[in-house]
Amino acid sequence: MGEPGVEPAKAFAPEFPPVRAGVAILGATGSIGASTLDVIGRHPERFHVAALTAQSKLAELVALCERFRPQLAVIADAAREKELRDALRRAGLPTRAASGPEGLVAAAQCTEAAIVVAAIVGAAGLLPTLAAARAGKRLLLANKEAIVCAGSLLLDAVRAGGATLLPLDSEHNAIHQCLAGAGNRKGVRRLILTASGGPLRECRDFTNVTPEQACAHPNWSMGRKISVDSATLMNKGLEVIEASWLFGFGLERIDVVVHPQSVIHSMVEFGDGSVIAQMGTPDMRTPIAYGLAHPERIDSGSAQLDFHRLSALTFEAPDVRRFPCLTLAYRALAKGPAATIVLNASNEIAVEAFLERRIAFPAIAQVIAQTLDAFEPEAPGSIDDVLAIDARARAQARRTLQEVPES
Ligand code: NAD
Ligand code: MG
Repeated sequence: MGEPGVEPAKAFAPEFPPVRAGVAILGATGSIGASTLDVIGRHPERFHVAALTAQSKLAELVALCERFRPQLAVIADAAREKELRDALRRAGLPTRAASGPEGLVAAAQCTEAAIVVAAIVGAAGLLPTLAAARAGKRLLLANKEAIVCAGSLLLDAVRAGGATLLPLDSEHNAIHQCLAGAGNRKGVRRLILTASGGPLRECRDFTNVTPEQACAHPNWSMGRKISVDSATLMNKGLEVIEASWLFGFGLERIDVVVHPQSVIHSMVEFGDGSVIAQMGTPDMRTPIAYGLAHPERIDSGSAQLDFHRLSALTFEAPDVRRFPCLTLAYRALAKGPAATIVLNASNEIAVEAFLERRIAFPAIAQVIAQTLDAFEPEAPGSIDDVLAIDARARAQARRTLQEVPES
């Protein structure tokens, strides 16, 4: 296992192919996938789409293939490969079809892609994300669950494969931008992650919160899982863990501040008292464009920040009493890398159950807390260990679902 965190200047070295880089998008039919394709569509002279993957939305995947003409299309549902192949042929496309976990890994490694956008949601994205790192790609990481589950193994793979890792998560992308000027992290006192506070920031009684309310994010339009994570503040908890791996800081040097306007995407405080912040309209196309073109800057399509209309930027401490998931994440980070796998797996199970209206909103934190208390696995030494802990935690969390309040 390597030392946590990487010197940004080294790990993010800009060795970028100057002409028409191929991009593989893992999770192309999702929110990050759509934003990535929007940015790529604005720069046909710089990028082409090499591979696209989807879980089950086959018709959407084929429509994207017709528009972007990738070399490879992958449907994660292995039973539907023939259906995909037939649909691509009917559309008159030369795109190859693949499926299942091997297909996702093939997309991550495909020779036509210099850049891989890891935008699958959940631990399901772990193996293809690792494959992209091992294959030495420029890895644009949105799939925070992958680094939460396998931080040190993923960073080792990045180093061993000679890959370049650039975070797309807006907070980490902001910190990357703030650190870029400093050149290294020696003078840094702490990282400050901003959190919008989510749609329930002012809610006092969570008992009857519905999936629709939890997914109605005030500033960002995102997939349903991360939207619920934003409502519980688990998203910020996962991001604290992500930041600790990406930038090599312990939890005592990563703070969270609630900033409801989502204009400052995160900040770095230096030893001399300076604080550098990165700002912009809340639009994921900005960090995506940064990742695709780094170290250059390209048009992302996002709106300019209008300072004449920005009336106030406000800040407050997160209310960990109402949002216990943030504390659970800090606790898991303090315990170590096995606990963060358990945290993530139990959260995925609990959020799915909440979205399917099987458990109440406050039960999400209860399921995670009970699963974390139920067992303490040893630190993982390999990816097989990570997958085994993940599977065990999911089974434990499923048992816990029976004991918490129904929706
Ligand atoms: P989404 O639900 O909109 O899209 C998820 C994508 O992953 C889809 O293409 C889906 O087909 C695919 N997928 C889902 N389950 C899969 C599986 N088991 N196997 C293979 N493919 C599967 O999610 P999103 O909002 O685009 O988020 C994607 C990732 O990016 C998440 O990890 C999220 O935390 C992170 N992220 C998203 C945003 C955002 O603004 N949406 C911001 C920061 C980070
Ligand atoms: Mg984020």
